[in-house]
Amino acid sequence: MTESGTGPVAFDYLIVGAGYAGSVLAERLARAGRRVLIVDRRAHIGGNAYDCYDDAGVLIHPYGPHIFHTNSADVFAYLSQFTEWRPYQHRVLASVDGQLLPIPINLDTVNQLYGLSLTSFELEDFFASVAEPVAQVRTSEDVVVGKVGRDLYNKFFRGYTRKQWGLDPSELDASVTARVPTRTNRDGRYFADTYQAMPLHGYTRMFQNMLDSPNIKVMLNTDYREIVDVIPWRHMIYTGPVDAFFDHCYGPLPYRSLEFRHETHDVDELFPVGTVNYPNDYGYTRVSEFKHITGQRHHQTSVVYEYPRAEGDPYYPVPRPENAELYKRYEALADAEENVTFVGRLATYRYYNMDQVVAQALATFRRLESDAAAEL
Ligand code: FAD
Ligand code: UDP
Repeated sequence: MTESGTGPVAFDYLIVGAGYAGSVLAERLARAGRRVLIVDRRAHIGGNAYDCYDDAGVLIHPYGPHIFHTNSADVFAYLSQFTEWRPYQHRVLASVDGQLLPIPINLDTVNQLYGLSLTSFELEDFFASVAEPVAQVRTSEDVVVGKVGRDLYNKFFRGYTRKQWGLDPSELDASVTARVPTRTNRDGRYFADTYQAMPLHGYTRMFQNMLDSPNIKVMLNTDYREIVDVIPWRHMIYTGPVDAFFDHCYGPLPYRSLEFRHETHDVDELFPVGTVNYPNDYGYTRVSEFKHITGQRHHQTSVVYEYPRAEGDPYYPVPRPENAELYKRYEALADAEENVTFVGRLATYRYYNMDQVVAQALATFRRLESDAAAEL
């Protein structure tokens, strides 16, 4: 694909996708005086972080629960220009052996599960006694059995991972289960990052503020292919799935999809925490109750169940060696596209959280601007 049109160019940038990657770049480029057209095939901005009020008036995340957390002061300061925050520390319980137990596994998890009363020091010895020696930590199984042994692995990780990914943990990179730490203290928070907060008025409002510029035009319900040869632009930023951009010429890159079942109940609260995980039962991996996460007060409550699927919208890259190899071939094609820059979770096939996509987009902006300066 090349720069289109020969007459005066209407847009300096055509940005495909109005999620974090696309919206951060649109905001930065517009602030730098560039004219930006951002298109999304969905009917809304925000990508998978989009939130909205459901029929009952409860603020929900249609694409599953999104909790903001980061260790980056820069990312937090950047987003703080577009939203105020409500401090929120996510807690997750796992339904195991008929009990609801803290995950990440911590001192309370082990004591409650086995009916023990270990101290933190004793728990370290306990883990050391049950951990299986792993010469080289390579897979998502190695990470867990190497730290907490086979029984905790089977109860908390094996079933969940097989359900979530349709693969055994031994078939996935270590990085997947390594997202969930193991603790010897009683810290019951899901994340340990320095900054943990939810946008006070929701993600969508934050995205609206980012895109609110005379230099940005937003076009929704539009696949970029419908307009790419019609509207003139100089440079494209593409944030959709990388294999789709190249018409899957090397075959489809595997993604994991989800089906979301949303429900509203006529009670104030259904669950004790924001998310309950079901590693070993049911077709869903977890259920999340939005009011815990958003802090909204309402006489009803809305929840979402996540059912992992092989088919459907791509939500997760699948981190394993053969997929990394296939991605490398697409990456080589992407690198060869002079007029297109690939950014974001699906365009760079990385299992990134929101803050990591923001950081990647900010770094991309700096590179684009220094390239432009070098051309002058
Ligand atoms: P996206 O948000 O996917 O945006 C890409 C956009 O491009 C989409 O809107 C899509 O419609 C559009 N697009 C694609 N192809 C085309 C096309 N051909 N034409 C036009 N538009 C196109 N991160 C956290 O930090 N905390 C969490 O708690 C968290 N929870 C998550 C829960 C779930 C269930 C999922 C799936 C992800 C979660 N994430 C979480 C990750 C987070 O959603 C992503 O890191 C982030 O949204 C990625 O932003 P993005 O811009 O790369 O991609
Ligand atoms: N995981 C698990 N049991 C849990 C929680 C997580 O086995 O109770 C594993 C599973 O493979 C999951 C991965 O750890 O996909 C990462 O979990 P995370 O909660 O970060 O997933 P996400 O929120 O990105 O879906």
